[in-house]
Amino acid sequence: KAVVEKILWQRSLQMLDQQQTWQESPEGRRMLEFRRSLPAYKEKEAILSVISKNQVVIISGETGCGKTTQIPQFILESETESLHGAVCNIICTQPRRISAMSVSERIALERGEKLGESVGYKVRFEGMKGKDTRLLFCTTGILLRRLLVDRNLKGVTHVIVDEIHERGMNEDFLLIVLKDLLPRRPELRLILMSATLDAQLFSSYFDAAPIIKIPGFTYPVKSYFLEDILQMTGYRLTPYNQIDDYGQERMWKMSKQAPRKRKSQIASAVEDALRAADFKNYSPQTQESLLCWNPDCIGFNLIEYILSNICENERRGAVLVFMTGWDDISSLNDKLLAHPILGDPNRVLLLRCHGSMASSEQRLIFEEPEDGIRKIVLATNIAETSITINDVVFVLDCGKAKETSYDALNNTPCLLPSWISKVSALQRRGRAGRVQPGECYHLYPRCVYDAFAEYQLAEILRTPLQSLCLQIKSLKLGSISEFLSRALQSPELLAVQNAIEYLKIIGALDENEDLTILGRYLTMLPVEPKLGKMLILGAIFNCLDPILTIAAGLNVRDPFLTPLDKKDLAEAAKSQFAQDYSDHLALVRAYEGWKDAEVDQAGYEYCWKNFLSAQSMKAIDALRWEFLSLLKDIGLVDSNGTTCNAWSHDVHLIRAVICYGLYPGICSVVHNEKSFSLKTMEDGQVLLYSNSVNARETEIPYPWLVFNEKIKVNSVFLRDSTAVPDSVLLLFGGGISKGDADGHLKMLGGYLEFFMKPVVADMYLTIKRELDNLIQT
Ligand code: ADP
Ligand code: MG
Repeated sequence: KAVVEKILWQRSLQMLDQQQTWQESPEGRRMLEFRRSLPAYKEKEAILSVISKNQVVIISGETGCGKTTQIPQFILESETESLHGAVCNIICTQPRRISAMSVSERIALERGEKLGESVGYKVRFEGMKGKDTRLLFCTTGILLRRLLVDRNLKGVTHVIVDEIHERGMNEDFLLIVLKDLLPRRPELRLILMSATLDAQLFSSYFDAAPIIKIPGFTYPVKSYFLEDILQMTGYRLTPYNQIDDYGQERMWKMSKQAPRKRKSQIASAVEDALRAADFKNYSPQTQESLLCWNPDCIGFNLIEYILSNICENERRGAVLVFMTGWDDISSLNDKLLAHPILGDPNRVLLLRCHGSMASSEQRLIFEEPEDGIRKIVLATNIAETSITINDVVFVLDCGKAKETSYDALNNTPCLLPSWISKVSALQRRGRAGRVQPGECYHLYPRCVYDAFAEYQLAEILRTPLQSLCLQIKSLKLGSISEFLSRALQSPELLAVQNAIEYLKIIGALDENEDLTILGRYLTMLPVEPKLGKMLILGAIFNCLDPILTIAAGLNVRDPFLTPLDKKDLAEAAKSQFAQDYSDHLALVRAYEGWKDAEVDQAGYEYCWKNFLSAQSMKAIDALRWEFLSLLKDIGLVDSNGTTCNAWSHDVHLIRAVICYGLYPGICSVVHNEKSFSLKTMEDGQVLLYSNSVNARETEIPYPWLVFNEKIKVNSVFLRDSTAVPDSVLLLFGGGISKGDADGHLKMLGGYLEFFMKPVVADMYLTIKRELDNLIQT
């Protein structure tokens, strides 16, 4: 013991020495000076003393004041000074992988070290960590995964949970787990950090834990709302009659026209926007469609106009544009690259900043461009609080962010852009005032801002809980509903019950709420269980390619466009792909056509001809890669992926895999003289969306349709369906693993009895039981 202690003591002395040498070097002195200028640095002693006296501490302060980069360092430094440096072990979680990576890199730089020495990071698929790493940045998901094997976080001295104001599902989940852990680990310190927050809520959750507020400073920022922006451009209001949903045509034409026509195009784009200035008078639906940020609508043209105006007329300073997600960032990027000024690399440094970008691209964001070049960063809400770009003076805010929402009715999550909260809008605006007075262009009217919610609802309260429930089970945290009742804000009981019931039906949990083998695999795939099931079976049955496309398609905006004035043409275009009584297979065909066209760089024309959204196609393409790497990750696909497509052309097999994923989304097809009608167990008669390929048929060759989701408007409508025969429903309607066979059979039996004569249903069930036994053996 004495020997070990001596070694650790010497190591701490060494670390202390290294830091002293660095801080005395010119570069180190400059860095220390920068650090000392941050508001957090002035609170260093106070923060350390509160942490030493309390197990839980909450720290809040303006974005950019130095919480993320400084506070973990203060702890590391003070532990080193007290010669505990070699034994302290600090974990700091970030909601996103990109911030874990960029922050750790930044801290290593501030300490004059290489990444992976005393500071490291770990995110899914990547990491940089050495034997001397004492401060580790990781995503919240990684820490949750560690808790799976190391319930007591053995050896960890400090856990810092950053950005808790975002109230992400993982963070709320982690807090319950940590709250349980604290009494078992009395010496463990928990530090919660956040930008603007309801600190009191967190404090009372942790038995009146002390709150430290770091005072901040920002320069004033001038705000412009849509109406001001339009006024500035000097255009008149024109009456607004009808919305043309189909702006893509205009876009496409614009891209083909000669540059000299540009000016008038911009004028007409602004004219379009102007029409929206009388915004309040429009229905919520109209407002939505005017301000949705896709290239089909006014938003993109307006952004282009403002950016070119800034580049030509405004003072120095970087521009930060807040968009909703990867897909609209990349299409805006494409559009700007085609612009004479904004696309000119000698005048503009155009960068993207979103969760899934490469780290090399990331670094450029923080660097100052050469003189005369304007930096424009297109970012998601990641740049709202987790990443601070120093030289920003102008901010453009589209007012939206991608957010998962949950409809308890049909258990379907959707990741859709929705309006941000007032707090977020202020936060975005504040990004312009960090180095000097700035300007913020809110690309929506003032009245829309006034209607924003104060705070955003916690994710746990607005998303389906199926994945979370699976995680609770895999962490062996006991009863799901009991566990969730201890959350910071507990989700509705109905939502919890729905989730558990669903997991039982799909065969992920057995009757006792324990994980089945399928359930265990699903916990390894961070996607919706529905998609997880499809992907797993697609890999097992070697028909992965089309299944990747279908699973990705379920996650993006419908790529089949139906413009109001060209409905017939669009439907005709879609029907070329509809040979299999399946919207899912139609998508597969459309995607494969696009992929072929892309080889000749004719993807856009292909989309245009076939009424497809090129943006959605690109998004599908990117997601396919992600899904594939997840499957490789858990060993269901070998690393070169040679055999996983041996059966990819077998339409019947694909039909079966779709059924496996979408069950219990089934309805029975009842034929009458001229046509057919549809029935589900819960709703009775249901209808198909008019753009479904099956809606145009008079006859369906199979007795069942499986569907993605149903939506209740006046009647219940089904979106995207695939026809399946009896045999497929019997074999693939539900789980295949033994653990759940009986419970599942009961469920399927219920469905069958509802739709069939009891004798027939009984016969089917007997067959099914035999089949399941056969599969088991
Ligand atoms: P907070 O967490 O309070 O929002 P940070 O600790 O992230 O603040 O940032 C503190 C300061 O460090 C900011 O002013 C920012 O400009 C600077 N900074 C952070 N990361 C980097 C980086 N990668 N490169 C350059 N400067 C950075
Ligand atoms: Mg931070």
